[in-house]
Amino acid sequence: MRVPLIAANWKMNKTIPEAVVLAQDICNNLDRFDTSDFELVVFAPALDIKPVKTVFEFEKMPIELGAQNFYYEQSGAFTGEISPAMIQSAGCSWALVGHSERRELFGETNDIVHRKVLAALEHQLNVMLCVGESAYVRDSHEELSFVEQQLKAAFAQVDASCACHCAVAYEPLWAIGTGVSAPPESAERMGAHIRSVLLDIFGMKDGEQPRILYGGSVTPGSVANLMNMPHIDGVLVGKASLEARSFVPLVQAAV
Ligand code: 13P
Repeated sequence: MRVPLIAANWKMNKTIPEAVVLAQDICNNLDRFDTSDFELVVFAPALDIKPVKTVFEFEKMPIELGAQNFYYEQSGAFTGEISPAMIQSAGCSWALVGHSERRELFGETNDIVHRKVLAALEHQLNVMLCVGESAYVRDSHEELSFVEQQLKAAFAQVDASCACHCAVAYEPLWAIGTGVSAPPESAERMGAHIRSVLLDIFGMKDGEQPRILYGGSVTPGSVANLMNMPHIDGVLVGKASLEARSFVPLVQAAV
């Protein structure tokens, strides 16, 4: 049985005081929950991780923290970069890898994504790998093979025993930040495809499978229909995660 996973990606939003207020607001408005019912992860900006973690711990809320970015080397002369060990020591149990904004705006190739996946797993971080096609690829009807290539590149040389520490977020670029979510049926079609590619890569049993999430303009109104799809185990939420008044109803509608 795959436990539903709801993840917030705050992107480059929230100063430390703003992040603390949002974390507190989430705790004040969200009922206590058990991580065997669902898991909640916040991918916060690097500087917000520690203060937000402190709020969740103080409130005894089992909300996990993730980093939006890091560099794949262990340490050394890489000015401005943050290592997997650093994000782990700040309280992260997750690392986001391959988000389309990093691929598009910061030149992250499939090779860089692959190195990051290996580095994160080596440091006992759970990996949330983002994949997804542009409108151009979709209109050329090549989205299935495009996503398959992204998955095979990212998970090359990853041991099958690590599969349960990986999740895949399908985020079509045409749905991110547009206010237009993918129809649940098309998210499901890609979810089923991702599932079969993962089975091919890892050859694992059902309970060990990476969870598959959908991301792109998810709202409190759209989340339930997406989560009802058999191959969609969760959602990765951008804009609607930036305020407790939208994020808390979204979590409630999802579970
Ligand atoms: P939006 O929910 O704002 O479309 O962002 C999705 C996203 O990119 C999450 O990683």
